[in-house]
Amino acid sequence: MKEQLVKCLIKLLFQEARRLKRKRMERLKKRMMPPADLFPQTFIIESFFVRELGAALTTGANEEMHFLTGPKIGPIRIVSRWAQPPSLDRQSPVFVRASAKSVAAVLIPIIEQGAELHMCAHSHPGSGAGATTPSGTDLQCLGKLQKAGSQAIGCIVTRDGCVRFFSVSTNFCVMVLGTGVTEISKNVYRIAPQNSH
Ligand SMILES: [Zn+2]
Repeated sequence: MKEQLVKCLIKLLFQEARRLKRKRMERLKKRMMPPADLFPQTFIIESFFVRELGAALTTGANEEMHFLTGPKIGPIRIVSRWAQPPSLDRQSPVFVRASAKSVAAVLIPIIEQGAELHMCAHSHPGSGAGATTPSGTDLQCLGKLQKAGSQAIGCIVTRDGCVRFFSVSTNFCVMVLGTGVTEISKNVYRIAPQNSH
């Protein structure tokens, strides 16, 4: 009986020790990781690349989607290339939805290359800054991705060179470098075609 009691006490002591250790680790982790808000994810993209992206996403009448990646140095993300596009479940001029399986097929090589997903980019029909407004589905999809731990943001382009960067929960800022860039409003730009002055 006494032996059992001792065993039980030892078990409780170990449990308590583990709980305290866990608590201490959590406190340490919190101290080591400043709130994400202090360091917004900073996306750097060239107007040249936005033009190429716009052209690639507007080849047909349908909305198309590309997953963008590139080097990442801490919170600084250089958006410089796209991964092989996913095959879309259903494609229409106003709707883009990639199947979970095809998205995984695109994301796995990115991760295997030691990179991270920076942006999910797609095109919208219509023209002007207004046409770049994300739809409910766009926000829902990106929200899910960000909730799952990704810090990727969304990007919507139109045929007339407007581009919008948006996020649901990731705190971010974007820098569009190069020529022909006009900021229309926060995170919305017009990129002039090359060679137009
Ligand atoms: Zn959309």
